[in-house]
Amino acid sequence: MSAQVAVQLRQGRHLIDGRWVESVSGRTANVVEPAHNQPIAEVAAGDAGDVDRAVAAARTAFDEGRWPRLSAGQRGRYVLRLAALIERDAEELARLESLNNGKPIRESSRIDVPLAADCFEYFAGYATKVAGETLPVPGEMLAYTLRQPVGVVAAITPFNFPLLLAAWKLAPALAFGNTVVIKPSPETPLTTLKLAELALEAGIPAGALNVVLGGTEPGAALVAHPHVDKVTFTGSTAVGKQVVMGAADSLKRVSLELGGKAPNIVFADASLEDAVAGALFGVFWTQGEICTAGSRVLVQEQVFDSFVQKFVERARGLRLGDPLDLSTDVGPLVSRRQFERVMGYVEAGKTGGARMLLGGGRPSDPALADGNYVLPTVFVDVPSELAIAREEIFGPVVVIQPFKTADEALRIANNTDYGLTAGVWTSNIKVAHRMARDLRAGTVWVNTYNVVTSEAPFGGFKQSGWGRENGPYALHDFTEVKQVYVNLAERSLDWYGEP
Ligand code: NAP
Repeated sequence: MSAQVAVQLRQGRHLIDGRWVESVSGRTANVVEPAHNQPIAEVAAGDAGDVDRAVAAARTAFDEGRWPRLSAGQRGRYVLRLAALIERDAEELARLESLNNGKPIRESSRIDVPLAADCFEYFAGYATKVAGETLPVPGEMLAYTLRQPVGVVAAITPFNFPLLLAAWKLAPALAFGNTVVIKPSPETPLTTLKLAELALEAGIPAGALNVVLGGTEPGAALVAHPHVDKVTFTGSTAVGKQVVMGAADSLKRVSLELGGKAPNIVFADASLEDAVAGALFGVFWTQGEICTAGSRVLVQEQVFDSFVQKFVERARGLRLGDPLDLSTDVGPLVSRRQFERVMGYVEAGKTGGARMLLGGGRPSDPALADGNYVLPTVFVDVPSELAIAREEIFGPVVVIQPFKTADEALRIANNTDYGLTAGVWTSNIKVAHRMARDLRAGTVWVNTYNVVTSEAPFGGFKQSGWGRENGPYALHDFTEVKQVYVNLAERSLDWYGEP
């Protein structure tokens, strides 16, 4: 299976100015799949020299107007064509994503790929709706605003939703007239490469979209590059801080989608069935390698025991397996490194005095022995200072804790440096809205979890990031506002502003 896909993979090189090219250094790196830890592709490994070439291509495409000076309608049609090509090749993209990242094929085929196509479709339509305003200024003046592309955008993406997060950045950036250099995670570059191939097929002009492969070095070089106007970064909070520092010297625009430690709060009046199902999906979707993971489940004390019992029962029934198998619920973690990291948290939980009710190790199935599988793991009685209660684990590990009142739930929920998402389960409309108002997070889900759409803004409070992706809010991140003043008076203004 793996060998087959490696052979089918047509390009493992950088895409610069419409051409697939080797690294300046000639270096390559293996891409390893996580179910057996076998190499599945050999791709170029870039450095600052490759970044220079890609930025130069994007800069020229922007400055010469090859992309930004097309009409908005023309740009929209190219982006729409790309959406249609994603739909045409949906099966291949889903297989590639699951093979490379480890997420179950049911997720990549029903969620990642359709949402990526939808995002390109949404912003294709938006291209022609980007408008300025006229402003009622005093005097004989006409004042209006223009919304213009920011320029050359560097997009840096993490390993967990490679295709979808590339779409969240590329779709608005391109639709609004920017040119882009994207650098995917070195662990999961394959669907980004396929996406770039489709962009070429869609006819998007050379230089409008460039891909540089590699790790930290080209990432940092992109962030610091003087000819990049904006960085859109999704990744960990620790690297996000480095991005801010790297961009400071040239004062680039920076938007950041960072980590989370989301509370998922269950009140006693909620439907227990729904809350258990939502909490399971909330934390074990994509093996818990998701920024929104509801990894702190807070349950009102009256229903705490029954909730925990049902949750553990259902978690025990989740099927770990090959990511390409349609019956798999939980796949392997992306890499050995991630496996070790998550197991480190589990050990720290056990030795730190928390009570582990489920999981905590590898599955016993010998067929899964070579992969980076971690059993869904449930902790209760967790001292609040423990790392598992405070830090982003990015694996299938959940902490369940009781609370008495809404005020107490809010105190626990907001007691974190993160503020990406939160969930509330209740049948009381007042409680629902009060929690939605007072939770310090960029998204609050009520009686649901992990719903993301192209139409609604996504982003974080506090150390979960800056800016919002998707919906009309993407305008703020991917356009500049210019004001234009036109003197309508017969004579020009004098020194004191008098005609
Ligand atoms: P990461 O380690 O922060 O890496 C993200 C990307 O940045 C990778 O392409 C990485 O390449 C690159 N990079 C590393 N150091 C860099 C530097 N100094 N300058 C520029 N780029 C650099 O994150 P990850 O482990 O791939 O992904 C997991 C994290 O992403 C989690 O914290 C998760 O919460 C977050 N995330 C957030 C959202 C959101 O929307 N808020 C969505 C998904 C994921 P290398 O891998 O080679 O270092």
